[in-house]
Amino acid sequence: MQSERFTALLRSRELKSTPQRLAMLEILERYGHADIEEIYNEIKEIFISISLATVYKNINTMLEAGLIQEIKIPNGKSKFEIVKEHHSHFFCTQCNRIYDIPHPQRLPLLLPDGFVPKESMVMVTGVCATCHTGA
Ligand SMILES: [Zn+2]
Ligand SMILES: [Zn+2]
Repeated sequence: MQSERFTALLRSRELKSTPQRLAMLEILERYGHADIEEIYNEIKEIFISISLATVYKNINTMLEAGLIQEIKIPNGKSKFEIVKEHHSHFFCTQCNRIYDIPHPQRLPLLLPDGFVPKESMVMVTGVCATCHTGA
């Protein structure tokens, strides 16, 4: 069951498994990448009285726990996704879609002495195949 997997995921990060958090993870899994508004609009269908502040709070908690990650969109709203294997993103500036690009190795960044890398995220912007070919 999906929810059991998410419950285990939350527990592994020492977070309580609440119906709201499970629903948010389910939405993120379904969307791949979703912004706060998308999550909020979806979750309202299940928890009618949930507030945007509650969604923010839970997203932040899961962010801090390293369960989900934020993807900063150029000139747009941040998207969130469940943390999985390292990958890069392609952002299509025409349809605003985010694509996961397999990226098995971390970039060989040459950092100056004394710099400690924490996270390297690559965001490529451009036009996706669907928009490019007009299919
Ligand atoms: Zn596109
Ligand atoms: Zn991604």
